[in-house]
Amino acid sequence: MGKVAINIATGSLQQNDTIVGIDLGTTNSLIAIVREDTKQPIALKEIDGLALVPSIVYFDAYGNVTVGTQAIDFLINEPERTIYSAKRLMGKSYKDIKTDAGFFAYTIIDDDTDALVKIQIGNQFYSPIDLSSYILKELKKRAEHILKTSVTKAVITVPAYFNDSQRQATRDAGRLAGLDVLRIINEPTAASLAYGLGMKEHEEKTIAVYDLGGGTFDISILTINNGIFEVLATNGDTYLGGDDIDNLIVNFWSDAIDIADINNKSYKQELRMMAEKAKKFLTYYEVFEGSANGKELRITKGELNRLIQPLIDRTITCCANALKDAGLKATQIDAVVMVGGSTRMPLVKECVKAFFGRELYDQLNPDEVVALGAAIQADILAGNNKEMLLLDVTPLSLGIETMGGLMDVLIPRNSKIPVKAGRQYTTQKDGQASMRIAVYQGERDMVTDNRKLAEFNLTGIPGMPAGLPKVEVTFLIDADGILKVSAKELRSGIEQSIDVKPQYGLTDEQVESMLWDSLSHAKEDIGTRALVEATTEAEQMLATTEKFLHKHHELLTNEEIEITKASMQELMIAINEKDKNKIQQCTESLNEISRPYAERVMDAAIKDAMRGKKIV
Ligand code: ADP
Ligand code: MG
Repeated sequence: MGKVAINIATGSLQQNDTIVGIDLGTTNSLIAIVREDTKQPIALKEIDGLALVPSIVYFDAYGNVTVGTQAIDFLINEPERTIYSAKRLMGKSYKDIKTDAGFFAYTIIDDDTDALVKIQIGNQFYSPIDLSSYILKELKKRAEHILKTSVTKAVITVPAYFNDSQRQATRDAGRLAGLDVLRIINEPTAASLAYGLGMKEHEEKTIAVYDLGGGTFDISILTINNGIFEVLATNGDTYLGGDDIDNLIVNFWSDAIDIADINNKSYKQELRMMAEKAKKFLTYYEVFEGSANGKELRITKGELNRLIQPLIDRTITCCANALKDAGLKATQIDAVVMVGGSTRMPLVKECVKAFFGRELYDQLNPDEVVALGAAIQADILAGNNKEMLLLDVTPLSLGIETMGGLMDVLIPRNSKIPVKAGRQYTTQKDGQASMRIAVYQGERDMVTDNRKLAEFNLTGIPGMPAGLPKVEVTFLIDADGILKVSAKELRSGIEQSIDVKPQYGLTDEQVESMLWDSLSHAKEDIGTRALVEATTEAEQMLATTEKFLHKHHELLTNEEIEITKASMQELMIAINEKDKNKIQQCTESLNEISRPYAERVMDAAIKDAMRGKKIV
């Protein structure tokens, strides 16, 4: 499989090609494209009229694989050979899922608790990546059949809370299925895109995405700003969804049924199917009447609502928690997007509407929106949507190295190009004649974690005390994505510049992985930055005190010199120990000790001045 050429500066592909959007769901998966003629996204349907492919994989004794609707029946008769909910296992070790193991009717191997889980069927072993790849292969086949062309490139969605290894696993599954996965995007982001949210320039919105699927509930709070989505908070329940509603209905009917019948496996499954049917029916009608195994089954909308109210209440609690984590009030949410088949239920809509106090985005099929949004993202990548944002932006932040190896950003990522930015810097040492300008690209706080693009020296700075020279560093990115960095000392006018091509040499995946890196290391980075800043301040304090002791020791008593030196010693130890709090404390105490000295120098200087002159 060849690599695709992507112009990272524009976020577009070099050649035109159909790129599909895929929602790889826990319960159902589907594939969508943006139609060339209408420019509208559509979910691809076979002649059976169904877009949804149940995420179920059945393996027969000969190694043949059946995916989707035809695999459902095997859930009852051959549960140990029929895999559902493989998504729950993506990128997980046995340790991660130990408490949930009872949920799965098939065999999960527990060979090494830190290794990624494997599933045993007969004498064969499958990883969740293998299993997902079968679902993706089925979707690919379906799309090729419908579109009558080969499909090799895809955007695949994942839950917003998926970590690096879960995203990587999803990517690998795509690759195994013969798909070049151009992007992994968050499900709530895709759903928002499907409603056109975030597609306008300068659009600033806070969005809540409520996703109640077959087995999981997710609430995500996002902001969209100038085409950039950011996840503020996620919450939910990984074991709460439509299946639980079906079980509630089964239990509701169970009272009227013989115990012997309930213990019959296939009868129970039949009841569950009836329950799902009733649930869907009551979305549109008041009373459901049916039968299973000769028994009359009946449930009204009111009865169903009473059954599911506690379940909905739990989702609302999750919403409240997500808002709290995001530091927002319900009234600050601009749009509420409904996702997942279970949000078709009127009571769910009613409760969510009441909680957020606003109308819902629920006009599209809730089980299709994620795939539709993925198709829109795919279309943007294909370069078909020319007016779309995210074009012509810098994929990563650009900046220079400052004291202590910190990254000082001049042009933040996603800035529209062409763009120009400048900032003034100064020297650290007296008489410093040159200044090193090192240019980096990336989102991390320490330059060593970012990517170095270029370096040059601004030389010939006239001798001045530290802090006096004014060096203006300017970044300019032209329309072709070429970065020009220049540095000018404003007092003397000396100047130097360099051309850099920041976009070259980075693949789309590298950009993405650098972004992920920065997200996953954000906490750690804040800690490092605080330490570096404390250390820099401490070192400056030490240098000033040292200079003072050297120049003005006659103004201090021996005891004072002793105390000062001891305090300096302690600060140096703290710096060595890299203990931020201790560094700050010691800097503080050294400052306390030396503060009065400065006054003495001033007094002495005034006395000196008075000695020669007479004030009249
Ligand atoms: P997932 O994202 O978990 O793969 P989906 O979004 O496809 O799942 O949602 C599947 C769930 O939606 C199933 O439990 C199904 O019964 C439920 N569902 C679909 N249509 C309706 C409806 N009209 N009323 C209630 N539930 C529905
Ligand atoms: Mg889903």
